[in-house]
Amino acid sequence: MSKVHVVRADEYDLNIITPAVDEIFSQLGLDEKIKPDMRVVLKVNLLMKRRPDEATTTHPALAEGVINKLKSLGVRDIVIADSPGGPYLAQHLKGIYAASGMLDVAERTGAKVNLDTGFREVAAAGGRVNSFNIINPLCDADFIINMPKLKTHGMTGMSGAVKNMFGSIPGLMKPELHMRFPDKRDFANMLIDLFMTVNPSVSITDAVVSMEGDGPSGGTPRKTGMIISSCDAFALDRVLARVIGMENAKIEMLEEAERRGLFRGEEQIELAGDELLTYPDFKNPATHSIDFMSYAGALKFLRKPLMRLVSPRPKIKRGACIGCGKCAESCPAKTIKVIDKKAHIDYSSCIKCFCCHEMCPVKAIEISRFKMFDL
Ligand code: SF4
Ligand code: SF4
Repeated sequence: MSKVHVVRADEYDLNIITPAVDEIFSQLGLDEKIKPDMRVVLKVNLLMKRRPDEATTTHPALAEGVINKLKSLGVRDIVIADSPGGPYLAQHLKGIYAASGMLDVAERTGAKVNLDTGFREVAAAGGRVNSFNIINPLCDADFIINMPKLKTHGMTGMSGAVKNMFGSIPGLMKPELHMRFPDKRDFANMLIDLFMTVNPSVSITDAVVSMEGDGPSGGTPRKTGMIISSCDAFALDRVLARVIGMENAKIEMLEEAERRGLFRGEEQIELAGDELLTYPDFKNPATHSIDFMSYAGALKFLRKPLMRLVSPRPKIKRGACIGCGKCAESCPAKTIKVIDKKAHIDYSSCIKCFCCHEMCPVKAIEISRFKMFDL
């Protein structure tokens, strides 16, 4: 059985977060597992330069609560790290640490924010790839605490514990992996392999305020009021899917984990702590459409052209675009050009990874849905 621990937390207030973190550490045995001489790395989700209230990034109050707890256990070497979208440069990282509130947390607590932009090639677990390039702080850690933000996700359906480790890959090497694994199921297997390679010891999910709709950056915050944690990320992700009403949705990461025997079904989960809150009306990402053509029987030969027609695609809102080029920078297919300060997408080579949508700082890329009467 894998314990998935739920603790209610209505606000990002240290008076609420501190006892919640105490409970998580005690329930998951972290008090015993973590030793004072360890280097502990908090792998937060810092996708881009966003304020904490935008619900795109792991909230700094939760990081602060975890750091205070680690300090109370005598740990002195604590590092906050992530490889956000965009170039993996110290200056870029500094801006994101500042905007996300992590810099303030580091200053208040004495923890470090990682500014080392080096990485190392590490032999991959899982067998689909030989190796991954992993950012140095994760290679050098004695104990990794994975701290995802619960969000919907345009490509993978959901961003939880397994998906958060995609931020182990240095900046612009992430689009290379999108290009190498354009098929969602292959990409999901790559994410699972990556997770098993980095192998964080525990995942503590910020689901106090989550993101619904067009996550992981274009959606809207929604209070879900919990911190959900486990040493088994696959069981945890199953529970997170339940929270956001996606337990029956097609999430390749979850399906592949099950197919590979990493998740043995609901009987593997031991829910502990507070009652789990679930939100059946949580808005799914627009891209998470049902593959209705799987029911098309004899017309299956039409599947590919029809799916191309009906599947959502990124669309530039010209009025909102400021011509910053971040979408073009993150596009693995190199199919975006900025001309006269406006981005343009050449759809003929678009692989629908939605990295552009994820990285646009002003939400100028929407996910355009199929409309019957647009035909
Ligand atoms: S679409 Fe967004 S990311 Fe791309 S150039 Fe315009 S503002 Fe920048
Ligand atoms: S245009 Fe956007 S969705 Fe298409 S390949 Fe480029 S980043 Fe991915």
